[in-house]
Amino acid sequence: MMDIKSSIKKLKELPYLDRPYSSRGWGHKLHSLCSYQSKLKPGIAYHLAKLFGEKEDLIFEPFAGVGTIPFELAQRGIKTVSLDINPIAYTVSLAKLKKQDKKKILKQAIVDVKEIKKIIEEVGKGKIAKIYWCESGKCYDKIMKLKEGLDLFGSDLKKAKLGKCIACNKKTTNKAYVASSY
Ligand SMILES: [Zn+2]
Repeated sequence: MMDIKSSIKKLKELPYLDRPYSSRGWGHKLHSLCSYQSKLKPGIAYHLAKLFGEKEDLIFEPFAGVGTIPFELAQRGIKTVSLDINPIAYTVSLAKLKKQDKKKILKQAIVDVKEIKKIIEEVGKGKIAKIYWCESGKCYDKIMKLKEGLDLFGSDLKKAKLGKCIACNKKTTNKAYVASSY
């Protein structure tokens, strides 16, 4: 741990005012997850973490805001205990720092849809519709015509159980996903 006097001296020498660190957009893209009033530039947090953080440290950040410093520290494998009074800031921090379960998130986003008219309803809620599709171009067109901006992609590699194509009712084991691309 550095003493205060030499810490201040070191701080003044940090290159966070120079390009590219001086840019607000510098660093990991998660830093730009959400704009926030008086947010610390990632370049400053990066140099602070580099200068003061050590692997075995547990750093207390009582004014964490949207987690700029804890996030930089986390990228170095350094743990923090952080606080912020603003629930929005806390939520943004959590989104950056909490380990996400990709499988679980995907599972929550995908819904089985059996009727063609239900596709629009689910996709409108931001979901991905898992459907049976016979792989014919005609049925593809029929599904795509439901709404502008739809995308049909990736069928399951392992074949599904027998079902009925959502557009023509023909029996098929082929599944596909429909989502809105905008
Ligand atoms: Zn079909």
